[in-house]
Amino acid sequence: MSIQVFGLPVSRGVAIGRAVLVASSRVDVAHYFIDDSKVEDEISRLRVARDAVAGELMALKRDLPHEAPAELPALLDVHLMLLHDEVLTGATKQWIVDRHYNAEWALSAQFEVLARQFDEMEDDYLRERKADLEQVVERLLRAMSRGPSSSFAPAPGPASATRDFGGEDPLVLVANDIAPADMLQFKRSVFTGFVTDVGGRTSHTAIVARSLDIPAVVGAREASRIIRQDDWLVIDGDAGIVIVNPSPIVLEEYRFRQRQSELERARLSRLRHTPAITLDGERVELLANIELPQDAPVAVEAGAVGVGLFRSEFLFMNRDGELPGEDEQFEAYRAAVEAMNGMPVTIRTVDIGADKPLDRMSVNELRHEHALNPALGLRAIRWSLSEPAMFRQQLRAVLRASAYGKVRLLVPMVAHVSEARHTLEALARAKQQLAEAGRAYTDIEVGAMVEVPAAALILPSLLRIFDFVSIGTNDLIQYTLAIDRADETVAHLYDPWHPAVLKLVAQTIAQARAAGKNVSVCGEMAGDPAFTELLLAMGLRSFSMHPSQISAIKQRVLRTDARRWAARLEQILHAEDPQAVCAELHAVISGAPSGAAAMLAV
Ligand code: PEP
Ligand code: MG
Repeated sequence: MSIQVFGLPVSRGVAIGRAVLVASSRVDVAHYFIDDSKVEDEISRLRVARDAVAGELMALKRDLPHEAPAELPALLDVHLMLLHDEVLTGATKQWIVDRHYNAEWALSAQFEVLARQFDEMEDDYLRERKADLEQVVERLLRAMSRGPSSSFAPAPGPASATRDFGGEDPLVLVANDIAPADMLQFKRSVFTGFVTDVGGRTSHTAIVARSLDIPAVVGAREASRIIRQDDWLVIDGDAGIVIVNPSPIVLEEYRFRQRQSELERARLSRLRHTPAITLDGERVELLANIELPQDAPVAVEAGAVGVGLFRSEFLFMNRDGELPGEDEQFEAYRAAVEAMNGMPVTIRTVDIGADKPLDRMSVNELRHEHALNPALGLRAIRWSLSEPAMFRQQLRAVLRASAYGKVRLLVPMVAHVSEARHTLEALARAKQQLAEAGRAYTDIEVGAMVEVPAAALILPSLLRIFDFVSIGTNDLIQYTLAIDRADETVAHLYDPWHPAVLKLVAQTIAQARAAGKNVSVCGEMAGDPAFTELLLAMGLRSFSMHPSQISAIKQRVLRTDARRWAARLEQILHAEDPQAVCAELHAVISGAPSGAAAMLAV
């Protein structure tokens, strides 16, 4: 029977595929396909790991101290029995043979199947054996990571292009949660869609999913409990619905929609090299948000005229506590700058914290684990200023990259003038260090992110210090409405149309323009076509978004008469329901035939 699971739509389009359930703790297990010739090698890696773990367990049992509790040898026997049970290793082998999963993935897949069976057991004792099974699987995974790794590298390129050995079923990943850092590894993965139980629309997991440009639904609460390994799934990334084991008619309908949306994307991509100019002749800058230097060529290909936000913190994740040094960061920034071919690259200093922790090994992660409310804690510029040596290292790396193209520096989460001043002092010190070392750099513009209401409210002071501002609507909404952007239980209250949010955005744009300073929006609002006309009406001429959104926004820009929308701005900003007013105006200004529209509008 087909079931529907409801969540939040975070990345558009339709994905159809078989479910791969992954426990959150194991999302970082490598997931890739092996080709026919490597099946035996993978089985042998599994066998070697199993023998190694058996050796470990027997040694543990042999060396147990006399005073050890009597249950311990029995427990180790249970682990040994589970290890040798065909249901674990035999069936894992089958995943390798039938599906061509790499050994770690095959083992995790089989664990998910067995864990579900344990959960459903009536007998408490047997149900609790799941924890033992989990420990055995952990040991096996650890043994595999120590042993020789697979000689078959994960296939590069987009997810859909990774299965080239047999036209098998596409796969969709289902997990309780995926950390932003883990999501990043799926940039080169085999999955054609994602579903998670937790997360909000602008959580960083959702943002990275959107940057992958594959359909995703987050905050689907019970999804990973309801969906079973291998179920057929339809992910409707526009509506935020997951259909489990759809009927043939529903499947056909979604296949049709999938083809339509592919055609629409192909049509839009033809706008790639068209300049973004409104009907009334206003030139608009469409920039890209990137997470890694490898995203820069994708941005160029999508028609971006620069990078408006390089989220440098992604370079700091998945590193087992060892942060990237100055040279490594410099190489990454230089790679992005060179890929952009003279177009500007706006590098944001690390925005670690809140829902973007470093990995578990680091001291700072530990600090965050203890923070009562990490979104209000030591994150972004607060974190950087609390780690002066690390901060100057990053600033030197950014400055050095400026010798290779146009670089701008962006400071996240500024709320105090003192933070601005301390940042500029650190920058001056970094320049001095470079000069002393004889390293080349150029003078770079420095901008502030306006993403805390306090920054919007003291903007004139910040505009005296900074060269430009960029509005981070994701956080501005979070902090204005006091809604944790990553918490699906309050996601219905996370409202980008809230009049308070729109007033802060409009006021920031107007004040920056009046001061003659460049202003852009780099939050998700910039890539949402529902806001394009309104932002243009507010006077915004610089939008930064995921490369995949550029064509759709450009189409909107090309069809907008910014002057006519500007004439209605006050009406929208003073409305109780600005979204409804915008929808009405849209029908009048953009939708109706020109004669009627002209009569009804301005
Ligand atoms: C924002 O807050 O809008 C923003 C662009 O920064 P991030 O999403 O990385 O917090
Ligand atoms: Mg932010």
